[in-house]
Amino acid sequence: MNEYQLSKRLAHVGSFVPENARLADIGSDHAYLPAALVLQGKISFAVAGEVVEGPYNSAKKQVEKNHLSDKIIVRLANGLDAVHLDDEISAVTIAGMGGALISEILESGFQKGKLSGKERLILQPNVGEVAVRKWLVIHGYKIIAEDILEENKKLYEIIVAEKSNESFSLSNREIQFGSFLSKEKSETFIKKWQQELKQREYVLTSLKKSAENQSEKIAEVEKEIEEIKEVLSNHVG
Ligand code: SAM
Repeated sequence: MNEYQLSKRLAHVGSFVPENARLADIGSDHAYLPAALVLQGKISFAVAGEVVEGPYNSAKKQVEKNHLSDKIIVRLANGLDAVHLDDEISAVTIAGMGGALISEILESGFQKGKLSGKERLILQPNVGEVAVRKWLVIHGYKIIAEDILEENKKLYEIIVAEKSNESFSLSNREIQFGSFLSKEKSETFIKKWQQELKQREYVLTSLKKSAENQSEKIAEVEKEIEEIKEVLSNHVG
């Protein structure tokens, strides 16, 4: 992967960034995503935020190497602290982290007034998608698109949201599986949940063998298995 040839995962994330958006890419190791989008001519302004010195320096080098310093500002900052009011950001990407960390970054940014509510959020949690969906619903963001893809034997979800004036809610099932993803039931989605099902069944077998009383945990895992089977419905087998 480089600034000309993004990974499949980052290319999918980038596909949700609107044309001419003013982008903040948070956790922008190497600034690959903003650099690629600028080089493609899709956007002409981005902030690349990084909290760790090493990746921050890599991002800076990448931007300088491509003579993009007038279009991409690289900032050493924690989460959405990288965003300044006069950046007039209209899209935020946070990719390649756990869902819990993404939600923490959003919450802290929200508390500090770093989110105007006008920006599209494009979030790609490696795990913990539930935390992300819960954060969005609680804070009045409507999920407008979802994507799931496989790269190097890993499965990734992308969640795209915008602030909504309409009331927006999700059922527990939609929080867990994604409203778009569970409707579309793509092959990748089925694969993910077949893997999750196998993993839960393994956990359940181990719990049942335990010498300690695991009845509460067993009931919990059995419920999860039931829910996954329901979503997979006739795909299980
Ligand atoms: N976004 C890129 C991608 O999807 O390929 C890089 C993902 S990399 C695994 C995660 C990056 O997020 C690391 O460079 C890490 O230093 C950075 N990071 C983690 N927590 C952060 C935070 N609170 N604020 C800014 N960057 C953060």
